[in-house]
Amino acid sequence: MRVRALNPCYLILNPDTMNQKALYPGTFDPVTYGHLDVIERASGIYDQVLIGVAHSKGKKPLFSVKERVLLLQKITAHLKNVEVGDFRGLVVDYAKKKKARVILRGLRMFSDFEFEFQMALTNRKLAQTIETIFMMTNENYAYLSSKLIKETVAMGADVKSFVPPIVAKKLKEKLK
Ligand code: ADP
Repeated sequence: MRVRALNPCYLILNPDTMNQKALYPGTFDPVTYGHLDVIERASGIYDQVLIGVAHSKGKKPLFSVKERVLLLQKITAHLKNVEVGDFRGLVVDYAKKKKARVILRGLRMFSDFEFEFQMALTNRKLAQTIETIFMMTNENYAYLSSKLIKETVAMGADVKSFVPPIVAKKLKEKLK
């Protein structure tokens, strides 16, 4: 194994090191600068990044899945190796279907940790070939959440430093 890892031919020819695709799943209701920061950094690391928008009916999203996908497509248009899709059901099934070996999640505070830890271990039980990788939030966005942004817009706040302009506009239209 060690010899293989040190052999440059192995690194070049091994299909495992080629075309690494990461799936970044979430509700994205709506996408924030915190999400965008994770996506931009991931696009510099992985060959391809697939953003998987979960239907998340149970969470009663403010934006339809179509609207969430469209917003993500618009704000990631400058990233050529990023695509956006939507899915129902298990994240690991979607990852397998799309041939992504990595599930990418963002971590903000300790409060994220317990849930993310549980989910990553459950996903590993369900699909051992898929690895969950966590990306630490950018400290500027550590406090940002879609839920908080919706609440502040509903109370009349200007959220242009939290979300891209097009998202701020759509939020205002929905919550005015
Ligand atoms: P979910 O409903 O799956 O938690 P979210 O849209 O809330 O979907 O979040 C998707 C992913 O993005 C999660 O891993 C979440 O921890 C991460 N995330 C959300 N906001 C931020 C942020 N400000 N910085 C870094 N990661 C974030």
